[in-house]
Amino acid sequence: MSQATDKINRWIRPEIRALSAYHVPDPGDCIKLDAMENPYTWPEQMVEAWLETLREVSLNRYPDPGARRLKEQLRSCMQVPAGQEILLGNGSDELIQMIALALAQPGRVVLAPEPSFVMYRMIATLAGMDYVGVPLDGAFQLDMTAMAAAIERHQPAVIFLAYPNNPTGNLFRAGDIEAILAAAPGLVVVDEAYAPFTDASFLDRLGQYDNLLVLRTVSKMGLAGLRLGLLIGGPGWLGEIDKTRLPYNINVLTQASGEFALRHVEVLEEQARKIRADRAALLAALGALPGLEVFPSDANFILLRVPAGRGQALFDAIRQQGVLIKNLSGTGGVLADCLRVTVGKPEENAAFLRALRAAL
Ligand code: PMP
Repeated sequence: MSQATDKINRWIRPEIRALSAYHVPDPGDCIKLDAMENPYTWPEQMVEAWLETLREVSLNRYPDPGARRLKEQLRSCMQVPAGQEILLGNGSDELIQMIALALAQPGRVVLAPEPSFVMYRMIATLAGMDYVGVPLDGAFQLDMTAMAAAIERHQPAVIFLAYPNNPTGNLFRAGDIEAILAAAPGLVVVDEAYAPFTDASFLDRLGQYDNLLVLRTVSKMGLAGLRLGLLIGGPGWLGEIDKTRLPYNINVLTQASGEFALRHVEVLEEQARKIRADRAALLAALGALPGLEVFPSDANFILLRVPAGRGQALFDAIRQQGVLIKNLSGTGGVLADCLRVTVGKPEENAAFLRALRAAL
């Protein structure tokens, strides 16, 4: 054992040993409102039709390495502008990793506002890059003075901007993102994971900036289990980043199921409309509770600040009543005392509200 420890300490990179693995809690029987999933399943007939299409899949064959049919469907469903290419990843996580692998060199910097999606930092570290986090202001907007100074000083190879941002739920000002695009020496990736829940997008600006890429995923539209993300941008950048992709990264089941689901995209779109409407109802109900600060959201989750020092206790009490949300209160900084709840089905949101009221 101790020999293994010696060897591990000698050979595993120190920055990897210093990381804690991405932790996903076991939900047990809880109502799951922690991971920004779409709570809805498909109508029975649609499930049957999907299972029928899976009969046709050849598990003995490698998948189409370019997933051409799936890409064409995504192009039309997501209204990808003509002339822009699509690169697919095993979740948008994998695309973040591919971008980092394509850019990584010792001393090169990945920059992102903070708090934001934790994988930007984690993947930068895995790729051997330096990570610079620039704190958001008190309203969770980009602090443009600090961003401009950090860009000037660190000359980042890539800047990640989640739009809407996770875990705060808000959209950054589009004009600020445009200023960053103009000032950045390297890539700017606008991560639109929560696109189904907002009307805002940078897709139609792709032609205007030679350093802009847009990241999307099908996870939040109801297909988190498929693991399918897409990077959209000019053929020059995407052709280079594609070289970091493992040959068959989108498996046959994902391709077949993705093609099927997108043929029925109106079902997913209807679910997203419902989630948007229920978000408004949940925001209003939370806003009526005393002692909470509730932040506006353009995503399928809501960030709330509870009375000082009570985050962990409230999270635990809500969990004991059978509802799992996300506890961010230990993160400190602008997230001090904050909890994040995903918008679920109306009855799930009601169970969460009941549990929160009882715990308060
Ligand atoms: N970007 C953001 C902003 C996210 O919040 C998430 C997941 N929570 C992802 C990307 C990754 O999504 P996926 O890998 O499921 O496509």
